[in-house]
Amino acid sequence: MIRAVMKKLGQLSLGEWDRHELRRTVQTHTIPVYEIELPNSDGLKILWQVDYGFSIRSDSLTQLVKIWAVTANRKQIREILENLLIVHQVYTSKHLCVVQQENEDNVILPMTFEDEEETESPENGLHNSLMDDDRLLGVHKMLVTNKFVPLSRNLYKSLALGGFNFTFQVSKKEYEIINNPTSAIIIGRSGTGKTTCVIFRQIASYLNRRLCKTSSNDKTFNIRQIFITLSPNLCHRVKEYFNRLRESAMLAGKKISMTQFYEYKRKKEEEEVLDGIDSMFEEGNEEDDIPNSFHELADHHFPLFITYDKFSKMLQETYGIKSITKQRNLDAENIDSYDKENFYQKSSSIKTTNFVDYKVFQRRYWHRLNCDFDCELVYAEFSIIKGSNPEVDFLSREDYKSISIKKYPVFSYDRDRIYDLFEKYEAEKARNGHYDSIDRTLAILRLAKKKALGGPHIHEVYIDECQDNQIVDLTLILKVFDRVNNIFLAGDIAQCIARGSSFRFEDLYALMYNWERTRVKINHSNVDINPKRFELDINYRSHNGILKLASSIIDLIWHFFPNSIDRLSREHSKVCGPQPVFYDEFQKDDLLDREGSELDDDHTLRRVDGDENPFIEFGADQVIIVRDNKAKMQVEKLINKAGLVMTVFETKGMEFNDVLLYNFFTDSPACRKWRVILSALNENSKGIQTFSHERHYILSSEFKNLYVAVTRARQRLWICDENIEYSMPIRKYWKRLDIIKTEQSKGGILSNFAKKSESYEWNQRGKNFFEQRQYEQAIFCFDKSGNEERRKLANAYNLQQIAKDSINDSDDDTIITNFNDAIKAFKECSRPGQAALCYQYIGMYKEAGDVYVEHNMFESAARSYLKANLWHKACEYFEKAKKYDDAALAYKDGFLKDSLFYEIAIKFMLKYKQKISKKAYCNIAHHIKIYYHATAISYGKFEEAVEVYKKLINNYEDIKEILEFLLYICRINILNEIMVSITDSSTLQHYLSKMNELIAKMESQLIRKSDKWNDLMEEYNLYTAYLDKDINKTYECIQYFRSRKKLATEFYAVNIWLQILLQLSEIQIKNRHRERLHYLLWMCELALPFIKNIVDKKRDSQIEKNFEDIFCIKEANDPQKKQIPFSNPLLHVHEYVGEAMNNQRIYSVNNVHLRISQCLASRIFELIWDANKKGRDIPDISSQICYKFTSCERPNCLDHHVITTPSILHKRLELAFLQYTVMLKLDVLYRHRLLKEEQSKEVRRLQRWWAESLVKFHIRYQSPQISCPEVTCIVLSSLSDCTRKEFIKIARKIWL
Ligand SMILES: [Zn+2]
Repeated sequence: MIRAVMKKLGQLSLGEWDRHELRRTVQTHTIPVYEIELPNSDGLKILWQVDYGFSIRSDSLTQLVKIWAVTANRKQIREILENLLIVHQVYTSKHLCVVQQENEDNVILPMTFEDEEETESPENGLHNSLMDDDRLLGVHKMLVTNKFVPLSRNLYKSLALGGFNFTFQVSKKEYEIINNPTSAIIIGRSGTGKTTCVIFRQIASYLNRRLCKTSSNDKTFNIRQIFITLSPNLCHRVKEYFNRLRESAMLAGKKISMTQFYEYKRKKEEEEVLDGIDSMFEEGNEEDDIPNSFHELADHHFPLFITYDKFSKMLQETYGIKSITKQRNLDAENIDSYDKENFYQKSSSIKTTNFVDYKVFQRRYWHRLNCDFDCELVYAEFSIIKGSNPEVDFLSREDYKSISIKKYPVFSYDRDRIYDLFEKYEAEKARNGHYDSIDRTLAILRLAKKKALGGPHIHEVYIDECQDNQIVDLTLILKVFDRVNNIFLAGDIAQCIARGSSFRFEDLYALMYNWERTRVKINHSNVDINPKRFELDINYRSHNGILKLASSIIDLIWHFFPNSIDRLSREHSKVCGPQPVFYDEFQKDDLLDREGSELDDDHTLRRVDGDENPFIEFGADQVIIVRDNKAKMQVEKLINKAGLVMTVFETKGMEFNDVLLYNFFTDSPACRKWRVILSALNENSKGIQTFSHERHYILSSEFKNLYVAVTRARQRLWICDENIEYSMPIRKYWKRLDIIKTEQSKGGILSNFAKKSESYEWNQRGKNFFEQRQYEQAIFCFDKSGNEERRKLANAYNLQQIAKDSINDSDDDTIITNFNDAIKAFKECSRPGQAALCYQYIGMYKEAGDVYVEHNMFESAARSYLKANLWHKACEYFEKAKKYDDAALAYKDGFLKDSLFYEIAIKFMLKYKQKISKKAYCNIAHHIKIYYHATAISYGKFEEAVEVYKKLINNYEDIKEILEFLLYICRINILNEIMVSITDSSTLQHYLSKMNELIAKMESQLIRKSDKWNDLMEEYNLYTAYLDKDINKTYECIQYFRSRKKLATEFYAVNIWLQILLQLSEIQIKNRHRERLHYLLWMCELALPFIKNIVDKKRDSQIEKNFEDIFCIKEANDPQKKQIPFSNPLLHVHEYVGEAMNNQRIYSVNNVHLRISQCLASRIFELIWDANKKGRDIPDISSQICYKFTSCERPNCLDHHVITTPSILHKRLELAFLQYTVMLKLDVLYRHRLLKEEQSKEVRRLQRWWAESLVKFHIRYQSPQISCPEVTCIVLSSLSDCTRKEFIKIARKIWL
């Protein structure tokens, strides 16, 4: 069927009208209208005419064919023809002439015209008195609301594929905007196609520059565009629209086969079934796959559609702003009042926000400010103090008082009071740690001025509804994007007026102008590019009847408050419409029918006939607008909930076909001041007030309210006001302009007004409210439409809203009850995500997780469980969701708090080793090792720890780590063996063989060996040498460590050397006595500084550190404490420090150090004691030289048998002094009382014995054959000062 229609349309477009008999005239009143009947189609007809308009293809005004209908419905055709009769009256004579021109060939080609597009002037042909309102509205729809789509292959495909997204016929101005290459501001109120223009411009630019090649490489990329707007709903809609347009465009440019075509169609249908064609955009459905930082943006994120809130979050993250709230000092006075006022202290489980928006301001701050102004106006006024000058955080009192009262008239005579309130609000906000959107913007702006944004280069920026932002917000956007090609801002002056905001398009334009100027300097370009400014003034949704009334109010504002709003060209529509109706002498009960019902005293309706159905039914596109909540309740009661009743404030941003404005002037605070309007009429009647700014400034906000109220209507506006005195002036003003119709008020206004709506219309309106997050009204509409499912959903969201709001002004119990109500409602309409969110608000994370699990949302469930510290469950569901990294990290969180988790965590890690990212694996393995290491040290579970280390091996570093750990265990064993002679070589053997395996595995793979690796190997060699009793190998190790300045291992090596020596045969020990003395001295040199250091309390941290390493001491959490590992010999040291042993063996640093020095002392004493004993058997030092020398044959002669050459004498004496020097080392231990009592007693005797034998056997002159004074002299003079001094001291005592 589509094919047949398209074929006919194709013939039409080729101009072959007569050849295919396409011109069957059905009407020829002024312009002929033709019809084409399609064969075999049950009377399907195409209705068309010749017209003219703007064509993109020829970029000019041209003749074109307008298709009015493709239908088989005879009634519809008749209606269209009737309406066309009227429509054609609108055409100007020139229009008619152009349309009727014709080429004379058989084939008719369009003619083009060079004239400017002419705005049709409806007054010319169309006078509203000629017809009834409904007819007029029908014509409006045909002429304006209907969009025409140029015929193209694109259209054909889109139709065939079931899409409806083709760009429709645009006007010349719209075309200019779409093709404007530079930055621009587009101004127009809703209904002027502003957003459409922005999207078209965006998609056009996107498609034109889709595959750019960068000069540096051949990689193609899409142009990067960002679209920002405040409303999540608008953002979502624009994104969807853009994507559909893009899809259509892509499809149109592609050749596809039949199979592909059916495949596509099938997919499309499935999607529609899944999404539901008119699915509602729900709160929290914003896509969150957009990263929170500009640095993380990748090409596939573009074009990027984000809300301003998300944009701010991204900037905060990119600039690394953690907290916006400023720390302020609380002085004592403030604390008192703060405590008193802060009556609702929230328990920590309830999620509170520290972001202040209007709602929070109203609920939390407003009543504290305690004033009789209008909350909304004050809030808006604060933004003047704070958001109008980006150079300062806020205006000073003087600056604020001196800003133009013409520009900002609202509080011009109360500025001091407003400033007081502002200061109070700011102080309170700072105390609460709260911030508002301007605080946030200023904080980011400060950083943005210092540092460029970074991240991928952005080409184009689009901002819609920019009037919703403050000027500082836009300053920030311009600053951040100072390198983009161009920026497109669109906004709505009417909204600006409605919100009473400080935003001015004039200011924005100036800002943009300066921005481009600075950019010229930055880019070193000579071209001045001024931003363009477009005003869209043709309103497609409203008609002139309404628009004239709106303009007349703007005129009043300009008349009385000349600079308070932007100037804008007068908005108009292509058609006239019914004039608004003003009811004269209206009284409340005129609303109702006089028969059939009557009013009680309290003005409630009482039905006379007892019928329970509402007597009037309003439509979905109708609303009664009232001033305040009190009036709202009254009217709602009056009409028995038959239709929508909303306050002026609530209707902002909404539009309705029909509006009944109820008691606007009666309930206006301006009262008699409205009379000043008469002065604008230049009437000289007496009693008219002359305008004075001071007396009448309240009207500046009242006019705005009135403007909002009347512009909510698209088609019909009825004004009913009881107070004739207050409403008379404006009525007179409007009557003078002849823009209202007055009617005598009599009963039954509402039944005249009411137009019943179909269920789908209520549904549509409900959806509208729902997406605007006005849930109460949405509930009302869905109730009317009978859509129970949506009513429930709206109700759930409404309950959630109530609960969220209550956070600001209720106690914990109320809040929790409120959230539970919402949860129940969400569960009933299967919105587990929302229910879970509610649980999270009140800190019930487990319950949130359970809800997610029920609906198989495993990842979300896992995240909730994580917050509830239910790690096991969190891990389980992360695993189910195949989020292995997250699962692993959850295990980590788990085991850090509960050690039972370690084993499961290890199992998990091994199971999913391949699926966990390297980074996460290393991190978690590290933590596991730390734990097992600590357990090993605390409880001696070394074997277990080694096994875990082994399991977790993943790379070279891990092997090094386990080797280090094994060496650590070996050290403890060695310490035990040599320090306290607990010998159990099998353990050492065990660990060394483990090491051996690992080393064998590693060595073959290592190409270049690091120093660290060599150190490890040498230490391993040392311990192996110890087991093998290989004294020479040990000697090599000593040399190695000494050269590498590894004091700890050097100490071990020297000790091991001494230890091995003791296990050798008597002969060998004797032969190596000199060496032994040397190593003993060496050991003293290493150890005694530590002992001195500790006892003298010098605290040389390097020495301390070295000895802590030697004794395997571990850090504890407290820097004043240290941990002694399990089975460390220090634990056996005689304890006299008086610190009780605890489970973990954590002691104070002093205790540990004392233990070390004690342990060292006893080791040194024993070694020296043994050297003393063995030394007495060595004739070189402990005997005289035998007078027979080497020829002595005396049995049992204990003397030394050598030939007394001077060099042998020298050697003897030197060795003797060496022995004596070693003996002297006991002094340190003795002096520092590190020896046991019996040991101490021995020290002096022993030293004395060696001093005596020195004198006796070596120094005293005996005979020329066996003594040589010169040698004695040489040796004495080469002695160290210390030894000589000590020796002389003792010698004195003995012999003098
Ligand atoms: Zn002898």
